[in-house]
Amino acid sequence: MQKSMLESLRSIVQEVNAVDDLQSVLDITVSRVLEAMSTEVCSIYLREPTLDRMVFMATEGLNKDFVGKISMAPEEGLVGQIVSREEAINLEDAAAHPKFFHMPGIGEESFSSFLGVPIIHQRKMLGVLIIQQVQRRRFDEDDEAFLVTVSAQLAGVIAHAQATGAISIGPNNERPKSALFKGLAGAPGIAIGHAVVVTPLADLYAVPFRRCRDPVEELEFFHECLEVVREDIRALGRKLSARLVPEERALFDVYLRMLDDSALAAEVDEKIHQGQWAQGALSQVMRKHINTFEMMEDPYLQERASDVKDLGRRVLSYLQSANTAPVEYPERTVLVGEELTASMLGEVPSENLVGLISVKGSGNSHVAILARSMGIPTVMGAVDLPFTQIEECEIILDGYNGNAYLNPAEELRDRFQLIFDEEQQINKELEALKDFPCVTTDGHRVPLWVNTGLQADIARSLDRGAEGVGLFRTEIPFLLRERFPSEEEQRRIYREQLEAFAPMPVTMRTLDVGGDKSLPYFPIEEENPFLGWRGIRVTLDHPEIFLVQIRAMMKANAGLNNLRILLPMISGVAELDDALSLIHRAHRELIEELGFDLVLPMIGVMVEVPAAVYQARDLAKRIGFLSVGSNDLTQYLLAVDRNNPRVADLYQAFHPAVLQALKKVADDGHAEGRKVSICGEFAGDPAAAILLMAMGYDVLSMNATSLPKVKSVIRGISIEYGKNMLAQVLTMDCGEKIREFMNAALKDSGRGQHRRNGLF
Ligand code: PEP
Ligand code: MG
Repeated sequence: MQKSMLESLRSIVQEVNAVDDLQSVLDITVSRVLEAMSTEVCSIYLREPTLDRMVFMATEGLNKDFVGKISMAPEEGLVGQIVSREEAINLEDAAAHPKFFHMPGIGEESFSSFLGVPIIHQRKMLGVLIIQQVQRRRFDEDDEAFLVTVSAQLAGVIAHAQATGAISIGPNNERPKSALFKGLAGAPGIAIGHAVVVTPLADLYAVPFRRCRDPVEELEFFHECLEVVREDIRALGRKLSARLVPEERALFDVYLRMLDDSALAAEVDEKIHQGQWAQGALSQVMRKHINTFEMMEDPYLQERASDVKDLGRRVLSYLQSANTAPVEYPERTVLVGEELTASMLGEVPSENLVGLISVKGSGNSHVAILARSMGIPTVMGAVDLPFTQIEECEIILDGYNGNAYLNPAEELRDRFQLIFDEEQQINKELEALKDFPCVTTDGHRVPLWVNTGLQADIARSLDRGAEGVGLFRTEIPFLLRERFPSEEEQRRIYREQLEAFAPMPVTMRTLDVGGDKSLPYFPIEEENPFLGWRGIRVTLDHPEIFLVQIRAMMKANAGLNNLRILLPMISGVAELDDALSLIHRAHRELIEELGFDLVLPMIGVMVEVPAAVYQARDLAKRIGFLSVGSNDLTQYLLAVDRNNPRVADLYQAFHPAVLQALKKVADDGHAEGRKVSICGEFAGDPAAAILLMAMGYDVLSMNATSLPKVKSVIRGISIEYGKNMLAQVLTMDCGEKIREFMNAALKDSGRGQHRRNGLF
């Protein structure tokens, strides 16, 4: 019994996943649920947000003529009861319920039993799913549990179909409607531009919808690629024929038959004729067939889905690799992808790139950190964005609030254009602060350093008046290559940084890969990468990589002596001792090798694992300075994946536990006579910077974009004001309240006028 329920659930979800339009999703759902639950009526009501009505959207068993035509207020009837209570209602005699509301004409008079469940997606009430039956009986617990499960699984599919429907071009090619997609603030700023969708290669499920310029040419191209794949398969079949049993050999013939001009290829041809590009046409056809196989009852045939998938991928890779036409980036490109990476950003000419939208990830993901340092407005975690469908769409991106507006109406564009212009003006004003010191009104000096990684960060940082580098993320140049850089290549990269800032200090962090930073040539696949092999754990296991990096840093430092070395992800003294002994060894060996003395740089530890907070004194005793990595420290203290948009609202940078930890590290570091800095994104938030200054942090290191804003705020307050804020905040017990308190305080003191511009 249970197994068949699970099977029905799987097949319903699979079937609806294969269709894109909302009405088909709903129609399939009601008819399959009706079958699976052997009942007489299944209907769906969806909330229409602009009218705020519950619309009768699909039914099996009631009068279909009323579908889409009748609606009720969200609080009306039993549907309203489900909406307001956000839970299931199970009634033996629906008409006897005081909230029962009879909709004339739809034909539900004769049905007594009623079971309805809410459809909720990301805390938002999308609608209600109902089953009914003539015979008076209470649906049992299994029925209720099944319906709740179906609804929970379908909510995401419905939300996605609604989103796709909202932006699709109508049957008469009319202008697509405007739509707002909510995500998370990634990097502040407003961008107005056109979408270019980037997708990983050979993924049939991530091919953007695009029209081809010339269907005849596109067909020719498709058939050329198809012929190459056919020849490949024939060659592979010949090569393996001696080793294969006849049934396995037959598989190659099946593949070839599938690719025959009269089979799958003909379906793809038809879509190309209709104006689609070959990749999109292929992806649609293959996905349909994969789904058909997956839905089959027979396990052998079900398995064939993977053959079709494999075949589809092969053809797609050919189409992709043979498509040598360079991607055209419009003048104002908004790069959109399911999961953007640093190297994808690198493909776009920097003068064309105005904004980024990533379906996955959050404001603390490394790609967002990179975007902030480059000053590119970014929206992360736009989970409902039908990203494959929005190629070339006009987009307004609000990186302050994490909103993306597709196909905006003129008035909206004008409104955002004004904000954009105002923002440019404010930036100009901030630029004027470049040569002024970061000092409070009562003379307390706060050195502001920068976090770097890209080559372009150097100029940006110097332009904004950085006084040093608090964190050079060395993994970034590693990420942009196809193999580990050699010692000499590294030396040159490091020398460039050290020279550009000398005599100002440059803090170079040793390679910090793992987590969400994986090198294409050194992939780390783990169940739980943020708790796995990352940072110092990797480099201590690979001394050959660590030593080369340390040697390159020390050689680059010759004659300049402004290098500091920082060790990431230290969770105990043993790791630190091991790292120190390797550094000392590299130092000794270099002196012997070069024949002249090389200064041993100051060494520091990142405090980003909670254990390091409690061992701050033990760690500090062994080294020259501590630097807090608040991005990771927050995720580990609060047990919130910094990359996961679902829990992004729990990632509270101002959480009292985080503030207490930050204060403890500053106090403990100072108790050992060491300097304490911070290089997490928290330092770049002006409200946070005030608190950190008051805690006694010796250096605040941040992305270059935030630096002038932080400076402007600190120059407007006194240290006394900051200490007073801190004292009040430390008595508060809730991160959200602390953030609100800080925003309000800054606004009151006249520094809130740039709120929208990311100042607070
Ligand atoms: C941090 O964790 O705060 C930090 C600065 O390092 P990263 O963001 O590169 O992990
Ligand atoms: Mg970190």
